Amino acid sequence: MTLINAPRGTRDILPSESWKWAYIIKTASQTMQDFGFSEIHIPIFEHTELFSRGVGETTDIVEKEMYTFNDRGGRSITLRPEATAGVMRCALENNLCVQGASAKLWSWGPMFRHERPQKGRYRQFYQIDAECLGISNAMADVEVISLSLELFRRLGLRNLEVVINSVGCEKCRPVYRQKLVDYFSAHKDSLCETCLDRLSRNPLRILDCKKEQCGLVADGAPDIFDSLCDECREHFAQVRAGLERLGFSYRLDKRLVRGLDYYTKTAYEILSGDLGAQNAVAGGGRYDNLSSAIGGGKVPGVGFACGVDRIMLVMEEQGCSFGQVPKTRVYCAALDEESRASVQVLTHELRKAGISAECDTSGRGFKAQMKNAGACDFACIIGQSERENNSVAVKDMKAGVQENVPVNEAVNYLRDRL
Ligand SMILES: [Zn+2]
Ligand SMILES: [Zn+2]
Repeated sequence: MTLINAPRGTRDILPSESWKWAYIIKTASQTMQDFGFSEIHIPIFEHTELFSRGVGETTDIVEKEMYTFNDRGGRSITLRPEATAGVMRCALENNLCVQGASAKLWSWGPMFRHERPQKGRYRQFYQIDAECLGISNAMADVEVISLSLELFRRLGLRNLEVVINSVGCEKCRPVYRQKLVDYFSAHKDSLCETCLDRLSRNPLRILDCKKEQCGLVADGAPDIFDSLCDECREHFAQVRAGLERLGFSYRLDKRLVRGLDYYTKTAYEILSGDLGAQNAVAGGGRYDNLSSAIGGGKVPGVGFACGVDRIMLVMEEQGCSFGQVPKTRVYCAALDEESRASVQVLTHELRKAGISAECDTSGRGFKAQMKNAGACDFACIIGQSERENNSVAVKDMKAGVQENVPVNEAVNYLRDRL
C-alpha cells in the first residue's frame, strides 16, 4: 500500500518550526492584551449562510473557494474561510454589543480556502484576527491599524508599507459603482474574462484584478474619493489624521477594495517588501453592514487579520528573532542498569518542582544518555556510589565541572543555578 499523504495545500508544523509559531502567537496574545482585546474561540465550521450572506454571494471566496458540504443531518456547513463573520455572529448571539456596548475581541486559528497553493498560501492557513465591534468612530479604525503595526513592530518586521482606501458606504457606493460600470463598459475590449463577468456583478473587484491589461484600464478608472458622501469623506479624513498623529506613514491606493463585500469606509493592507506576489501580511477595514447582513441589528465594526504563515516567511527572510529555542534544562543519566529506577524518581521530583527534566526511557547506555545531556544545562548522574550515599553527581555541562549533592537537595541546588 502506498503511504497516505496530507491533502494538497496543507502542511504539517513540525517541532523545528512550531516553537517559532508559538513565539508569534505569544507575542500576539501579549500585544492584544496590551490594547485591551480579549481572546475568544469560535467554531471552525459555521452555517454556509453566514458566509454567503456576510462575505457576499459574488465574492471569489464564496463562489469558488469555500469548503462546503452537507453534514449528516443534511445541513449545509462551511469550514470558515475567514474569521470576521464568525466573530460578529458570536458577538450578536452572545449579546456582547447590546445598548451601545462595544467589544474588542481577538482570536487565532486555521481558515480554509480552496485556492491554488503557492509560496505562503495554503488551503488550510492560519490567521490572527482582531475585531473592534460596536464603535463607528474613526478612532477605532486608527486603533486597529495601530494594533496591527505594533504587533509587527514587536515581531521585528521591517520594510512594511501601510496602504489605505475608503470603499464608501451603502449611500455613496452605488453611485460609484455605476460610474465604474459606465467606465469599464466603455473599455470592455481590454478586460480579461473574469473582469467581464465582474462588470455586472461586482465591478469594484475589477479594480484589484492582478492582470496587467486590466490594471492599465483600472488606472484610468473614476476615483472613489470623488464619489464619497460627506460622512465617508469626513470619516476617512479622521482616519488619516489619526494615523498621522501617531506618526504612521501610509500610501493611498484607490484600487484597494479587498475581496469581501462587507467592507465599508476604511479598507487597509500592510504590505511587505520581502514577499513575492502574495505580499500582504495583514488586511482589514471597517464593516458597518456585516451585522445586518447576517440578521443582527446595527453593530458597526472594524478589524484586521494577518496570516501566520506569511509573517513567518517574512521573519525568516529578515532574520528576525523568535526568542529562545525551548530546551530541556536537566538530563538525568544512569551509570548502570541498577540506577535507572533512581534516575526516574529524581526526574519526576525535578519536574514536580517545575524544572524541565528528561531521562532515557529506551534502555540506552550511559554514553548515549550523556550525548543527550549535552543539549541540556545540567546532567544529574546516578551510579552505584551515588545510590549508596544517597547523592547525585550534578554536572554543569557548559563549565564541565561536577559536584556531588545529596539527593534531597538536588532540586534546590539546581533551582539556584538555573
Ligand atoms: Zn458614504
Ligand atoms: Zn481582469
